[in-house]
Amino acid sequence: MGIIDSHIHLYPAEVNRDPAAWAAKTGEAHWATLCTRRRSDGRAVQAFPSADELIREMDLAGVERAVLLGWYWEKPETCRWQNRFFGECVQAHPGRLAAFAALHPRAGHWPALEELHRARDEGLVGIGELSPHAQGYGVDDSVFREVLTLAADWKMPVSLHVSDPEGRDYPGRVATPLSDFTRLARECPATKFVLAHWGGLLPLHDPAALELENIFYDTAASPLLYDEGIWKKFLSVVPEDRVMFGSDYPLNLFPKLDAAPDMTRLIAQAKAAGVSEAVLGGNAERMLAR
Ligand SMILES: [Zn+2]
Repeated sequence: MGIIDSHIHLYPAEVNRDPAAWAAKTGEAHWATLCTRRRSDGRAVQAFPSADELIREMDLAGVERAVLLGWYWEKPETCRWQNRFFGECVQAHPGRLAAFAALHPRAGHWPALEELHRARDEGLVGIGELSPHAQGYGVDDSVFREVLTLAADWKMPVSLHVSDPEGRDYPGRVATPLSDFTRLARECPATKFVLAHWGGLLPLHDPAALELENIFYDTAASPLLYDEGIWKKFLSVVPEDRVMFGSDYPLNLFPKLDAAPDMTRLIAQAKAAGVSEAVLGGNAERMLAR
């Protein structure tokens, strides 16, 4: 069984050419703060590879499939634009790339649902990475709830951005109260939620979350948030069928070691921690197969 990286970000050439200028033009200021920043040592927080460069990196790292996640854009039109790009990506690389749709409830009831239909028709298989907290709507937003209901009907997983309330601070960090995610999972029991970044350690902060069988977790950006002990710590509490390997590539996860992002180092860290094939790919494969 191959490795599936369930948390990847990818952008059209127009973004990659000059990310900061693109963000200024389109009004995606929060994305720019998170993604176009340079660290104090001068290194960029992330790279902007093309789809072909991503596939080459996957080949080098032995990653069979990657799941492209949309961004939690501030503008509905940016969501639509990224979804069209993702449709082209998955059609060009059907065996290697899967993709989730970006959405913003502010598009309005019918436009949001229409966009979801279109994204599904174009081959997208999930929704997210969404962030009600960063995109500026409540977890009880009526359009958001319609989207979650449709996701359940279509068995589309929904990826949500989560930050650890006790985690490290970084520029652009938005607080995401963990109780909002348990509430969503309780009130939308037929929707499968994938809480990114170890779910902000939700099940460690609130063991009651373990009883919610529609919550899954990914490991995106782990080395920037926690040390390598997190694999054993998390998996000693959370059943392994709830955890999916994801990197957050092309974020540079080891900026002190690598000048540019690399997919191999996190896989090596996970394997050294004794992580199973289910976490490295089997669980994601099952979720994508629906
Ligand atoms: Zn992400």
